[in-house]
Amino acid sequence: MEPHSGKEVNQRITEAAAAFEVVSAVSFEQRALWMNAAAALLEAEAESLGQLITVEMGKPISQSIAEVRKCATVMRFYAEKAEKFLASESLSDPTTVGASHARSQYQPLGVVLAVMPWNYPFWQVIRFAAPALMAGNTALLKHASNVPQAAMFLDTLFERGGFPSGSLRTLLIGSNEVEAVISDRRVKAVTLTGSEPAGRSVGALAGKHIKKVVLELGGSDPFIVLPRANLGAAVETALRARVSNNGQSCIAAKRFIIHEEVYEQFVGEFSRAMASLTVGDPLDSETQVGPLATESGRRELCELVDDARAKGATILTGGTALDRPGWFFAPAVIADLPDSARLVQEEAFGPVASVYRVKSNEEALRVANQTSFGLSSSVWTNDDAEQEWFTSHLDAGAVFINGMTVSYPELPFGGIKDSGIGRELAAVGIREFCNLKTVWKA
Ligand code: NAP
Repeated sequence: MEPHSGKEVNQRITEAAAAFEVVSAVSFEQRALWMNAAAALLEAEAESLGQLITVEMGKPISQSIAEVRKCATVMRFYAEKAEKFLASESLSDPTTVGASHARSQYQPLGVVLAVMPWNYPFWQVIRFAAPALMAGNTALLKHASNVPQAAMFLDTLFERGGFPSGSLRTLLIGSNEVEAVISDRRVKAVTLTGSEPAGRSVGALAGKHIKKVVLELGGSDPFIVLPRANLGAAVETALRARVSNNGQSCIAAKRFIIHEEVYEQFVGEFSRAMASLTVGDPLDSETQVGPLATESGRRELCELVDDARAKGATILTGGTALDRPGWFFAPAVIADLPDSARLVQEEAFGPVASVYRVKSNEEALRVANQTSFGLSSSVWTNDDAEQEWFTSHLDAGAVFINGMTVSYPELPFGGIKDSGIGRELAAVGIREFCNLKTVWKA
């Protein structure tokens, strides 16, 4: 697919700005009608769109179809809830501020640029676009360069549902052209979901041009298993949490921190389960792990594992590129990591699990909090006091107790530390790209 020229980019920004005049002026009810119609299109086309995703980035077909359906769910969620989430709030006693009436009200900002990754090529975009459009904004999408077909499908999805033409416009541009778009006066805000370096760059540009920014970045989430856990459920969930989406998920559990009392049993069962995964053609419904999305992604994963091996870590299973066409990689479990290993600090964006043996809850917490990331976390114990203690002390945007981290439309999603700024989903997500206007009347 040909990249857009400077002239085409300018035209597309003009279209998004013109669409804003219409989208922001109509009622929530009208936007909800359009949003639900677009959701119905996704539901009707889920199978073929699932194929598009799998062919373009390699995730197992059932997961691609599920991704499309989940997008429809979040669209319907915001169609129903947007008006309530953005309702004005009046001060109950305005005389305290010397007014006869005082309130705060949410208004859309305008055109918002979304820079998005390839790993959930539909979900990441819709998770931003559904609330943004329901709030009355319009969107520009700079999608990852390796998913242009998804990008161009999304370019027309909302107008097919009835939104004005230009409500979401894809820009087929390279990352070096993002600054020109952020600096454009018609663009009011920017969000990026992607890696930490990309987030730093876009965050700096947003600061330079004083534009609102939301960043959803990488993670190296801890998965802590304590003696009073249901071990069978923990192993089964650990497997899914590490390898779903071929291991390329920001909220995947990546570091498994296991109390010494259950370490041998957990690691034995988990390693056997990782070794017996079916790796293969992602269009085959039997496949559990497909190829990685890019050659460079596989190379980076191999480098992380090679670094650990060279520094004395124990490779319990997998950990090498598979010798067949495609960017296949054998799911790995790696133990005995020295502090100097890159895997201790860096994100493994593929099916590589690091396991850590700890003697106490305090040590588990120290290991969990020792990276610069803070996206989500998972704690396995049936002890109420332990659950509360870890919930209070984990440096993360979320804690899932006896379960796997999942993004739900109803729950805020986002990280702290180098995992990002701001939140998506729930009420807080739709408010991120609004002007919270204070109204005071004498
Ligand atoms: P990436 O390389 O950062 O790319 C993400 C997007 O940013 C792409 O559209 C990319 O464009 C663009 N980009 C890259 N460098 C840029 C720069 N300097 N300036 C402006 N735009 C830039 O990330 P990825 O490899 O696609 O995705 C994997 C990363 O995303 C992982 O770290 C993962 O944890 C994170 N992620 C986070 C979340 C979350 O919600 N927190 C969700 C999913 C993924 P090009 O493709 O043209 O380079």
